Amino acid sequence: MDRAGKGIHHITVLGGDGQRTTDFYVKTLGLRLIMKTINQDDPSVYHLFFVNGTGQPGSSITFFPWPMAVQGKPGSGQATAVSFAVPADSVHFWAERLSAEGLDFDGPFERFGKQVISFLDPDLLTLELVFDETVDAVGAWDDSSVPAEHGIRGFWGTTLEMTGTAETADLLETVFGFENAGMDGPLTLLKTSETVGGSVILNQVEPKRGVSGRGVVHHVAFRARDSEEQLWMRKEVANSGLSPTPVIDRHFFKSVYFQSPGGVLFEIATDGPGYGAAQDEKDLGVKLWLPPSLENRRDMIEKRLPEITL
Ligand code: ZN
Repeated sequence: MDRAGKGIHHITVLGGDGQRTTDFYVKTLGLRLIMKTINQDDPSVYHLFFVNGTGQPGSSITFFPWPMAVQGKPGSGQATAVSFAVPADSVHFWAERLSAEGLDFDGPFERFGKQVISFLDPDLLTLELVFDETVDAVGAWDDSSVPAEHGIRGFWGTTLEMTGTAETADLLETVFGFENAGMDGPLTLLKTSETVGGSVILNQVEPKRGVSGRGVVHHVAFRARDSEEQLWMRKEVANSGLSPTPVIDRHFFKSVYFQSPGGVLFEIATDGPGYGAAQDEKDLGVKLWLPPSLENRRDMIEKRLPEITL
C-alpha cells in the first residue's frame, strides 16, 4: 500500500458560546458551517464543523461549544496553534480585514519560508494564517463573506508543544507518513505532500501546565485513506506501546483515538464517507444532524440546545 502521508483530517476545539464561535468562523474568517450536530459522546452539547466549502479532509475545524466551560490555558502537551492556508498574495487583504474587524494580530513574520499572521479567536485560541503559494489552486468557498481569491483553503497545519518531540516526530513519520522538513530553533517542521493540512510543527518547550477548557484544542485527527489503512495505522500505534481505542463509526468518518507520546490526543479518521453521506446538500449546516440511534430523541435534544443562526 502507498504510505505517502495525507496529513491532518480535522482539528477539534473546546469552544465557548456556539453562536459567537459561528459568527467568528463564518462571518469573520469566511468558513462554511457544514455540519451542525451533537457531541456523539454527550448529546447535550453541539458539535459544529467549519470547512473550506467542499469539506474535504484537511479543512474541518470543529467545536464542542460549552458556554459554561472554564477558560482554558495553553501548555505543554497541547496543540497550541491552528494554522489556516491562504494564497501567498493575500497578506494585505487579511491584514486589512482583521484590522477592520478590530482584531489585534502579530505579523506578518516569516517562518519556514512562509509569511504568517497570528491572532486569537473569541475564546483565545491562537490562530494563524500561513500565506502559501501552493494552495492558490485549491478552491475556496464561493458563498463566503471573504472573496474566493483570498479565502481560507483549509488547514496549513498545527503547532504541538511538548517537552520532548522525538517520539511524536517518529510516530508522525512512521505511522502517518510525514517527513522531517527542517528545524528552526526549538521548532521542527514535519510535512506531507498534501497542500491542505500537510504540515505539523513540533515545538520543544519547558514543562508548562495548561488548563483544559474554552479555547483549547481537544484533539488533532490525521487522515487514513480508508478503513484498511486505518486498521494498519491502529496496529502500528498499538505495536509502539500506545493504547488506541477500537474503531468508532462517526457516520461521516470512522475514528480511532489515542494519547500521543507528547501528550496531545490524536485521532485517526478515515477520509470517507464524508458529510454528504449523512445529509442532503440543502440540509448541511442548517438542519441538526443526529446519528440514527438518537433520532427518536430529536425533540428532547433540540429543546435543550440553544439556537444557532447563520
Ligand atoms: Zn475528531
